[in-house]
Amino acid sequence: MTKSNRSLPTPLHAVILAATSQDVRLCTNCGNCDGLMVPGMDLTFAEVFQAAARNDPIALTNDTLWTCDDLLGPQLICQHNIDIPAVIITLAREARSKGLASK
Ligand code: SF4
Repeated sequence: MTKSNRSLPTPLHAVILAATSQDVRLCTNCGNCDGLMVPGMDLTFAEVFQAAARNDPIALTNDTLWTCDDLLGPQLICQHNIDIPAVIITLAREARSKGLASK
């Protein structure tokens, strides 16, 4: 994953926190969810969370937001109790609202 040079005006972690009470900055990139990938995903959930935590626009422009639906079930457990589906749905909504949706 390449870090973008741009950043977003409102910190994404704050947007996510306000919408879901989930703090993506708690993602330690522990690797526990790295194997959760389906065709079309270009970033792991951890990569999406780490991008959101550093306010990198790639958190809103990646394909994972639009291709990971099959994984967004109760089996999706984060080692640090981050509600992964809630965060992904919020990022997808934010991407749409900013006209950044890739799908
Ligand atoms: S399981 Fe949770 S803390 Fe670990 S990498 Fe995935 S999102 Fe981050």
